[in-house]
Amino acid sequence: MKLRLHNSLTRRVEEFVPLDPQRVTMYVCGPTVYNYVHIGNARPYVLFGLLARLLRRQYPKLVYARNITDVDDKINTAAAAAGVPIATITDRYAADFRKDMTRLGVDAPDVEPHATEHIPQIIAMCERLIAGGHAYAAEGHVLFDVASFPAYGELSGRSTDEMIAGARVEVAPYKKNPADFVLWKPSTPDLPGWDSPWGRGRPGWHIECSAMSEAHLGETIDIHAGGNDLMFPHHENEIAQSTCAHGGKIFARYWLHNGMLSIEGKKMSKSLGNTFKLHELLEKHPPDLLRYMLMKAHYRQPLDWSAAALEQAQRTLDGLYTTLRDLADVPATPADDLPEEFLATLTDDLNTPEALAVLSRLGDATRKAEGREARQEAKSALLGAGAFLGLLQVDPEVWFQGATADSALDEAQVQGLVDARQAAKAARNFAEADRLRAELHELGIVVEDTPQGPRWKRASATTATA
Ligand code: AMP
Ligand code: ZN
Repeated sequence: MKLRLHNSLTRRVEEFVPLDPQRVTMYVCGPTVYNYVHIGNARPYVLFGLLARLLRRQYPKLVYARNITDVDDKINTAAAAAGVPIATITDRYAADFRKDMTRLGVDAPDVEPHATEHIPQIIAMCERLIAGGHAYAAEGHVLFDVASFPAYGELSGRSTDEMIAGARVEVAPYKKNPADFVLWKPSTPDLPGWDSPWGRGRPGWHIECSAMSEAHLGETIDIHAGGNDLMFPHHENEIAQSTCAHGGKIFARYWLHNGMLSIEGKKMSKSLGNTFKLHELLEKHPPDLLRYMLMKAHYRQPLDWSAAALEQAQRTLDGLYTTLRDLADVPATPADDLPEEFLATLTDDLNTPEALAVLSRLGDATRKAEGREARQEAKSALLGAGAFLGLLQVDPEVWFQGATADSALDEAQVQGLVDARQAAKAARNFAEADRLRAELHELGIVVEDTPQGPRWKRASATTATA
């Protein structure tokens, strides 16, 4: 099956033809680990993680690298504020990031390079760029000489003037040209640093990705991806560094960029207090719901996270899980062979909204299927497509109790409170029963009294957005 991808470099949807089908290479810019990631950060990792899954079906020898940026000025600020070494901050948030990715059902990459483990490669790349006349050392810095690379600006389609204005580039006395960017910078004794031919210092952010990509994937890679906020200057600078360090060889053949996620129509920002942390959302909502929300818009489009959209996604998933609950007695395992129509949506530039529409149609077909064999086959196809998207793998009964990634932990506690309330009611101790109902309510649990006895579910899955 042919895979078509939108290449930001050519601004067209193109057929994906790897350089070497025996070793397809993909690099996705990973997080800078100085805080918890937010739901916007999860978008590239879910979507490009899905692309890696898709690629792997056809090219089992895919090498997917997703780095960890563990040296950066934002990290230094966080470490200084906490009075700890940077590794204390980066180890903690890198571990939290991995944990949250697992909870969200994102496959681990094949390689997870850390910038601090590639300092020799970064220094070597700076030296090669200087030797080739593409960079220069000045006052403990190494700067990339933008004028030495005529193709600079091709990815983002910006003129040099626009780039300078847009990036609010620092005009510094040691720069030949205001657009020249830092490859290496000096560190004062209180800052993390490594010995280098230019004195003790630390790398700039852009060179880290160029060096890690080269170290693990080679000089020319098939796919490079990240959010479209990284297109300029980060990706533009990566192209300049890698191309010039590799004697003009193309760096990445296909560039993919996801659109930005906003909250209720507004850009996420600290000042608005609407930066939704992934770990908090995972405590309130099932991973299926978060994944569904992230996949519901095409990756290149903007995606607005809203209470209304969350409720709609919840209803759709409830519908699919109702079908699975109604067919609980039909034995079926997720089919490996994905339906043709489903695969066609994904190979069409990762059209996840269409893939989700097909999933709903597979749900309808499962509901309508008659006869044991047809039902089994339909359910298996539904589960298979769901599994590929990281959806519908929860026991329907657990789903309707509002399972979150953490819920297994307090299930027994909830049941204990429900039982205690029932016992209080039976003993006509209504004050105690009400108190227990209030306690359950505090935990976000709604108890319904039915003729078969009390039933409980989590309320948060359908209400609040955070
Ligand atoms: P950072 O740690 O800031 O480099 O971000 C990690 C990844 O998240 C990058 O690929 C960014 O492009 C992406 N990203 C950051 N903010 C958003 C957002 N609001 N929506 C979608 N992607 C984002
Ligand atoms: Zn990068």
